[in-house]
Amino acid sequence: MAEAFQSPRGFHDILADDSRRFRRVSATIRRILESHGFEEIVLPVVEFADLFQRSIGENTDIVQKEMFIFKDRKGRILALRPEGTAGAVRAYIQHRLWTQRPYHRLFYEGPMFRYERPQAGRYRQFHQIGAEVFGSESPAADAELILMTEKILKELSISAEIQINSIGCRKCRPLYRKALLEFLEGVSSNLCRDCIERKEKNPLRVLDCKVDSCQEAVANAPATVDFLCDECKDHYKILREYLRESKVKFVENPRLVRGLDYYTRTVFEAISKKQETAVIAGGRYDYLVEELGGPPTPALGFAVGVERLMAELGKEGDQRHLYLVIPLGDALAYALRIAESLRKRGEAVEISLRRGGLKKQLEFADRIGASYAVMVGEDELRGGYYTLKDLKTGEQKRIEFGSSEDEG
Ligand code: ATP
Ligand code: MG
Repeated sequence: MAEAFQSPRGFHDILADDSRRFRRVSATIRRILESHGFEEIVLPVVEFADLFQRSIGENTDIVQKEMFIFKDRKGRILALRPEGTAGAVRAYIQHRLWTQRPYHRLFYEGPMFRYERPQAGRYRQFHQIGAEVFGSESPAADAELILMTEKILKELSISAEIQINSIGCRKCRPLYRKALLEFLEGVSSNLCRDCIERKEKNPLRVLDCKVDSCQEAVANAPATVDFLCDECKDHYKILREYLRESKVKFVENPRLVRGLDYYTRTVFEAISKKQETAVIAGGRYDYLVEELGGPPTPALGFAVGVERLMAELGKEGDQRHLYLVIPLGDALAYALRIAESLRKRGEAVEISLRRGGLKKQLEFADRIGASYAVMVGEDELRGGYYTLKDLKTGEQKRIEFGSSEDEG
């Protein structure tokens, strides 16, 4: 045999069992998004690399070391998208969506690519479902996204803590930045090499560093909320009031920042207890539309890490609602008719292609996670019935083909 290929490092296959869990996560989130009026947009996986440099920020980890960049045949520099917001904003501007209605609620789903060191819950191709709201400055929009975050966690029975913070605007952020920089100078001997560099270019990023010694060093860093201007303070206060009114559980983390530069005011994360990392993350980006060439448009959004949510789920609820029809003896044509009539009723039905006697067939049904076995042999053919076995309870009964019981 020739030497077999392997998928590239960090690129994973989602095989049938996981893909079922993937669909469950995706369907739950899409249902919640649609119930809040969000509409899907399908965006390209490839964009000009510039788009990400300008939106996510030159000095972020994503742009500095995590992008898959390549030249096309004409020498244009393209990138596999590392996240969805930049593309959504690009599309919003390109299609002048603001001319259609005063504000938009959009969502997207698909693969993202980051050249990271692969480890548990961290891949080079992973999937996000993201929601974006364009054209609202109201804290009600922030509160709604956080409420939806909580709904997603609840519906999937995932235990995670929602942390929120406000990181201010153009007016007040520079004051905070200055205070933070002064603080960081004082603890710089405890910072990792990356952070010593980050500190000069974008000190807020130091707060987001995952290295333990950096986390310790910034434990007493100044809090963003102590530097907010009156407008930002009000915005944050009203957001918290709305969240309390909607009974959303959250904790304030005055040192929460995000790894992308475009955020303003509200930022939030759902941190999983099990994985000790963010499974859903988002915030406001009030200047991004303008910075990418559109009209000034307040906006906000969040992104769900699908693989990270999947890692939270148990296997329960993953049994397939599948009928395995087992033709025995010379009853194949009859078995096919029964299979087709079950499908007409809306059931998922597979005809067993396994060869062998009943015992082997039932073992096979078990192996593939079927819920029911439908046994069809010559007795069944002569009698005009089939034998239905519930594989969970072991209960077995005869069903007249075409009878009311057969019709379900
Ligand atoms: P982290 O701090 O874990 O690197 P991030 O701040 O880079 O995350 P975002 O850019 O905010 O993450 O992406 C939103 C969500 O996408 C994250 O909360 C996480 O659930 C998921 N995510 C990010 N990077 C990866 C990855 N390499 N593999 C799998 N999921 C990821
Ligand atoms: Mg990251």
